Amino acid sequence: MQTDRCDVLIVGGGPAGSSCAWGLRDSGLDVLILDQATFPRDKVCAGWITPAVAELLRLDLSDYQKSHVLQPITRFRTGIIGGAAVQTEFTQTVSYGIRRCEFDEYLLNRCGARTRLGEKFHSLERTESGWLVNGTLRAKVIIGAGGHFCPVARWLNPDKGSEHSVVLAQETEFPLTSEQLKACRVQPERPELYFSPDLRGYAWCFLKDGFLNVGIGREGEKQLSAARDEFIQFLDLEGRVPREILGKFKGHAYRLYGLQKRTIVDDGVILIGDAAGLASPQSGEGIRPAIESGLMAADVLRQCENQYVQSRLTDYQQKILDRFGPWPDKPAGSIVPAPVRQFLGRHLISTHWFTRNVLLGRWFLQQHLPPLVRS
Ligand SMILES: Cc1cc2nc3c(=O)[nH]c(=O)nc-3n(C[C@H](O)[C@H](O)[C@H](O)COP(=O)(O)OP(=O)(O)OC[C@H]3O[C@@H](n4cnc5c(N)ncnc54)[C@H](O)[C@@H]3O)c2cc1C
Repeated sequence: MQTDRCDVLIVGGGPAGSSCAWGLRDSGLDVLILDQATFPRDKVCAGWITPAVAELLRLDLSDYQKSHVLQPITRFRTGIIGGAAVQTEFTQTVSYGIRRCEFDEYLLNRCGARTRLGEKFHSLERTESGWLVNGTLRAKVIIGAGGHFCPVARWLNPDKGSEHSVVLAQETEFPLTSEQLKACRVQPERPELYFSPDLRGYAWCFLKDGFLNVGIGREGEKQLSAARDEFIQFLDLEGRVPREILGKFKGHAYRLYGLQKRTIVDDGVILIGDAAGLASPQSGEGIRPAIESGLMAADVLRQCENQYVQSRLTDYQQKILDRFGPWPDKPAGSIVPAPVRQFLGRHLISTHWFTRNVLLGRWFLQQHLPPLVRS
């Protein structure tokens, strides 16, 4: 096979990789995205994005909506699995539901980079001028954007395989027939979020323009399927979603930010998105941090003047710390025993004030977080 050359090789064409490429679109750099999948491809996800995502990428939502699912969200139904629910209404659209198979392909198509799709990354060698990938692809700098199982991230963090900061999750998404729609009590503009009684995870039901998405995620959980089955039973008993209409669940994982230090920068290499472990520790939102980190990486690369040494790329790590907060030296503990925290948490989740202002406003919608300022 002939050798191909580029300045910036992005491994992974998800939201992190395509945003980084979009951020470099008029930089004069030759950017190539390598992805093992051909697009459209599925990604296990609830498909919830906050308005900040659309603003950051300057998405024309009315245009997007013409041919893609874009479900406005104005209300929520929240509670504990097995307990009572609280309704919260907002006066405007506070989030959107998208389908990842559509959204990711849309971002990839408009990012302006060359692509090599359906091609797996399998080898990496340092050379005098940068990198040789898969034996045929030469690049000056590599961006690891391959998600939770990113091979570049594994190369950079070889000893950090499994930790408590990993969320395991399962999801199913499928179109409902008109009969199934009648039997489903989940409303399109009102996603439902249900926390597990030990507050180590939550489950959701989300109806997006006729597509039902049901899922569950738990931190450090080995027995996720049992928790999923209990949740499905709860939905069935409550008459929210009849058990027989649910499709087959698919699993994935992601790492929450700030629970463990990771190497995200080295000579000629940067990690972004899930590869860097940036998902919000409160909500698991990972699309916005993926996009923000992709844009931050693009800003730093633009200023490197072709010198992709660690001392120049460290600016990226500083941007991540400034935006998402410091990493701990050791795993965080608490002086309040877990059962007491769980008791207090369950009580708070049943109150309207806490649900609106803290649970939804602060943790899920991140309304306190100022827009990303780009250099
Ligand atoms: C069940 C579940 C629900 C979620 N719900 C939400 C939500 O509603 N909202 C939200 O904001 N976040 C959510 N997240 C998190 C969100 O999905 C991720 O944070 C986000 O997809 C990260 O984007 P990314 O571009 O970093 O990685 P990804 O989207 O995972 O993209 C990585 C890309 O790299 C490619 N790749 C991987 N390995 C290789 C290789 N060896 N060679 C070549 N290519 C490779 C893959 O094919 C893929 O296209 C959820 C996660 C899960 C598991």
